[in-house]
Amino acid sequence: MTSWSPDKCWNEECGVFAVVGVPRASEITALGLHALQHRGQEATGIVSCDDRGDFHVRKGIGLVSDVYDSGNLNDLPGQLAIGHNRYSTAGGLTLENTQPLRVVYRGGPLALAHNGNLTNAAAVRQSLEESGSIFQTTLDTEVFLHLVALAPTDDVEAALTEAARTVTGAYSIVVLARGKVIALRDPHGFRPLCVGRLGDGYVVASETCALDLVGADFIREVEPGEMITIDPQGMRARRAVPAAEPAQHCIFEHIYFSRPDSRVFGATVDQVRRKLGHQLAREHPVDADVVIAVPDSSNSIALGFAEESGTRFELGLIRNHYVGRTFIQPQQAGRDFGVRVKFNPVREVLDGKRVVVVDDSIVRGTTSRKLVRLLRRSGAREVHFRVGSPPVTHPCFYGIDTPSRRELIGALKTVEEIREYLGVDSLGYLSLDGMLACESEPRRFCRACFDGRYPVAVEAGAGKLAIEQLRRTPSGSGS
Ligand code: AMP
Repeated sequence: MTSWSPDKCWNEECGVFAVVGVPRASEITALGLHALQHRGQEATGIVSCDDRGDFHVRKGIGLVSDVYDSGNLNDLPGQLAIGHNRYSTAGGLTLENTQPLRVVYRGGPLALAHNGNLTNAAAVRQSLEESGSIFQTTLDTEVFLHLVALAPTDDVEAALTEAARTVTGAYSIVVLARGKVIALRDPHGFRPLCVGRLGDGYVVASETCALDLVGADFIREVEPGEMITIDPQGMRARRAVPAAEPAQHCIFEHIYFSRPDSRVFGATVDQVRRKLGHQLAREHPVDADVVIAVPDSSNSIALGFAEESGTRFELGLIRNHYVGRTFIQPQQAGRDFGVRVKFNPVREVLDGKRVVVVDDSIVRGTTSRKLVRLLRRSGAREVHFRVGSPPVTHPCFYGIDTPSRRELIGALKTVEEIREYLGVDSLGYLSLDGMLACESEPRRFCRACFDGRYPVAVEAGAGKLAIEQLRRTPSGSGS
């Protein structure tokens, strides 16, 4: 097993789903997880609770479609289930680290699935270990289970409330206990979480696109700091921790991470992205023949740019969706193979044209640089790069996988230096104010990856770069 240290204690980019009071709940959960596949492709797990109160588990490394089939889902009986898709980072891809985490404590069996990242996990874990706790995983998530077990109460909701008062950071979690599911969201509401109605039962999901696939009707989002219990008697909400004012929803969910067909933080993601595209076109107009997207995450932003600028939208890059992480690069593959295996240009769209290429974000800049070379090789006469967000200058500590500042091109170079590095005729990033203007309640969004203002303190030494070190480094967004 991977040894644990704060910088390996990460649990990023995940999707969670739960079903209560619906026959064959594990099958519905697998479907929900399938719709949430974009939130994590490395590993997945489902835990169900049968009518006798016994728990059943299936976990595996790989995609939802690799791990579950009708045969093994039959081994997960019951009308209650929770599931998780995991995107693994430095913590190591192991089955122990695959969620939901399942334990048996004095209150009976318990399983928990978490999206987000706790910011004080190292300190909490250290103090738990000092008093004798034995941890099974390298996940920040596991501290929840220990805190529940230690709480001086047999009531699982009360114990979870105690845990929620101890941890800080981002958590949208679903918990399976005998006969019920509990959904809990951190006081800032960093990550999304919503509840829907399915027949006589309920579902809980990271995004509404999962409700759509299973045929559930959206009821509402779980509020920041709220705990919702769902059992055969129905759905009951209570406040676990006071909600932060204002909330701090992750703006990167709207820019990149969530699916455009989802409703997240009170808005349809596609509509926010269209607005980002409109604003981008107003801020960085350019005379061009075609607008293309870097599919798929930028499609809505590029459409918005085309609408506002009056320049034709074309499919200039085609994405292959079946690229696994373990793709073997043939020796004769040549330059830019990693990008070419994912994107192929449509020469007829690009040849001799002045092309605006729209991407949602630039993180390291390596993909964009290779894409630009591809576009030029396909005959693009001019390449104008437009980005639907400001330069990413700071890592996220609340559940988006961003590299350390050392690798963030937006932290290292000015916009002009980035333009040169990408090899483009012009480069335009959306301004911070322009981005915020696309949200109906901008003050309710965390934008720390763009301005380094972290709404929840991160413990020193946590993550990929210590927060103390971040504070010493000048902002250097270059814009
Ligand atoms: P690069 O600048 O080469 O690091 O890659 C930027 C591309 O990665 C953009 O097209 C984004 O759509 C995508 N992207 C942005 N954030 C993430 C993330 N957290 N995980 C994976 N891909 C991302």
